[in-house]
Amino acid sequence: MVVSVRRGRQGQRGNIALNRFFLDFGLWIFYRYPDFRILKRKGNMSVKYKYIILLGDGMSDRPIPELAGRTPLEAAATPHMDRVASGGIVGLARTIPQGMALGSDVANLSVLGYDPARVYTGRSPIEAAGMGVDLGPDDVAFRCNLVTLGSMGGGTDLADGPVDPQWVMVDFAGGHPSNEEGRSLVASLSEHIAGSGIEFHPGVSYRHLMVWRNGMDELDVAPPHDLTDNPIGEGWPKGDASERVLDIMRRSVEIFAHHPVNRLRRDAGKAPVNSVWLWGQGRRPNLPLFADRYGLQGAMITAVDLLRGLGACLGFELIQVPGATGYLDTNYRGKADAALEALGRVDLVYLHVEAPDEAGHGGNLNDKLAAIEAFDGKVVGPVLQGLGRLGAHRVLVMPDHATPLEIKTHSGDPVPFAALDSESGTAGSGVEYTENSAAGTGLMIDRGHELMGRFIRGELWNRPTDPGAEI
Ligand SMILES: [Zn+2]
Repeated sequence: MVVSVRRGRQGQRGNIALNRFFLDFGLWIFYRYPDFRILKRKGNMSVKYKYIILLGDGMSDRPIPELAGRTPLEAAATPHMDRVASGGIVGLARTIPQGMALGSDVANLSVLGYDPARVYTGRSPIEAAGMGVDLGPDDVAFRCNLVTLGSMGGGTDLADGPVDPQWVMVDFAGGHPSNEEGRSLVASLSEHIAGSGIEFHPGVSYRHLMVWRNGMDELDVAPPHDLTDNPIGEGWPKGDASERVLDIMRRSVEIFAHHPVNRLRRDAGKAPVNSVWLWGQGRRPNLPLFADRYGLQGAMITAVDLLRGLGACLGFELIQVPGATGYLDTNYRGKADAALEALGRVDLVYLHVEAPDEAGHGGNLNDKLAAIEAFDGKVVGPVLQGLGRLGAHRVLVMPDHATPLEIKTHSGDPVPFAALDSESGTAGSGVEYTENSAAGTGLMIDRGHELMGRFIRGELWNRPTDPGAEI
């Protein structure tokens, strides 16, 4: 931009324009880059932080009798997370606002610094973003599970005709069909059902996407995993969209009954995929990009579609790590290395590890301890070591939500977080990273989505020290 400054009256006008320009530019910098404010306040213009969030999905838990009343986080050896806690700030955050669904999508939105109560529109539109499927403002995305239903007699050969509320949800994952089987079944849906605004997009195994362009989203329907072994009537679709949804289900039963994939599955002694289940619907969420909101370029490392989708919605670079599975055998070290490498070009990395959550859902204590120790030893440890070479940094360690072994599903309990600032110069908490120690510090962030901003702006380290202070 060229600003001309001339003498005389014209010159005065020029000066006013110039002052105006610098005032506007200053205000723009001030709001666009919250970091600028921190650096200014600290009087150290040269500090440019790198940020990393190390997220152990579902790793917090409740006291376990087999562990003499300790939690898995207390019982597991976690020297690296303890180092973050002891040298940093520890507290609790409520990542699932009261009354909202206890989902990873809701919880991770909070951790990423977005208020789910304001921005969450459903699970499927986030997954659609992760699959690269664009939604217009009037389009509705539905998760399309390939499922196995059982008839009244217990068989899986369903009769043609209307969908029966007494049919039972035998397997919400349709016997985990291969990607090839899933694609073949979804291709038949595209051939016979798509049209009049309905589209099918193949995903992975039993998890696919249906889009209804200019569609209806008023649908109250249970997630299929909540109906396992129960009559589907207990989660029966209701609402304006239910007529169309039930018609698509009925036609999927017809199409799948004689599908070559199912002939082969029956021959191999496997249960057939005999219906779709449509759920998790919603319109495109209106999410401001992370860079616009926090002034930082981010990258997402995860093996899970939903987290990739969140990353895509927020404008993150999506990093694929070979061997990242979402299970206990995931490539932990590859994720840590990819994160450190990414921090060479972006400001913030969100590194998500699914394994502790899987162990929690399985109710398997040993798996959960192993997943937590692997996360600590193979992700947190190497990342902390590598960060030393990258200069000033802030590290946040936390789960998105608890997945207590006792209930084998997510809970809405507030979760412990630990945050370390390499430059803070303040004394750390001195405590280990556990649910109890986090509760003991008295720091409770009830609106969990506020944690991210306070972490990025460095405000966690400037809080009043009185216990019980809520920020
Ligand atoms: Zn989760």
